[in-house]
Amino acid sequence: MAKPRHVPERTCVACGQKQPKRGLIRIVRTPQGSVLVDASGKSPGRGTYLCGLPPCWERAVHKGSLERGLHTQISAADREQLMAFYHQNVHPNVEHAAGSTQPDPAPGR
Ligand SMILES: [Zn+2]
Repeated sequence: MAKPRHVPERTCVACGQKQPKRGLIRIVRTPQGSVLVDASGKSPGRGTYLCGLPPCWERAVHKGSLERGLHTQISAADREQLMAFYHQNVHPNVEHAAGSTQPDPAPGR
């Protein structure tokens, strides 16, 4: 029953997989009601997590997983910001790699 080491885990809001927290991207709903990527992981507001896989971002941003997870509506502008972050930081080559589903973990270190 001993826990050798405690690795904080969070659940991806889109696929429901548990992952080490640092492998996930935190999305936060600010007190002002906008939804944005929390790169520091410390922004105030209600947070949820997404792993770095294209289908998860698609589902989260375009199919409503994030809105359900955050209990809010995401504006079109915020949606664009999220996807811009995604294309720049999470999966920069997604447009060139259409059809390729190789895992591409977020840059952690
Ligand atoms: Zn996921």
